[in-house]
Amino acid sequence: MFDLSDLYQELILDHNRSPRNRRRIEHAGCRAEGYNPLCGDRITVYLSIGGDVIEEAAFEGTGCAISTAAASMMTEAVKGMSVAEATALFERFRAMVTADEDRVEADGASMGKLGAFAGVRRFPARVKCATLAWHTLRAAIAGDHASVTTE
Ligand code: ZN
Repeated sequence: MFDLSDLYQELILDHNRSPRNRRRIEHAGCRAEGYNPLCGDRITVYLSIGGDVIEEAAFEGTGCAISTAAASMMTEAVKGMSVAEATALFERFRAMVTADEDRVEADGASMGKLGAFAGVRRFPARVKCATLAWHTLRAAIAGDHASVTTE
């Protein structure tokens, strides 16, 4: 067993206990479902996009603490962003949790709250827990009503 204590920072614990934006958006313009078979995490992401701006972002799902906290913090982060900004943030987040040490420190410091997930890179089995919501967000933006999987 590996020690996950580094992952369970206060911010992640808080968002797992009290997930933000955990609800269905009725008549959401965009939605997608994601599944991480490695851990069993399942998520549905709902977006309301007006013009080019993400006006509302929400999710439903069941999963581990990492996946729930990641979805909660993602919906907070992208609300009010343009689609292009949210897509760029997805790329930065993915780079942060998969990159080498130097890159992680640089990116983690500039990612605000999302930097809490920088430590996930040391636990390869949990990287997909952290990125599931983001992959699903991208699918929702792309208009893929099909499911995505991290495998
Ligand atoms: Zn998980």
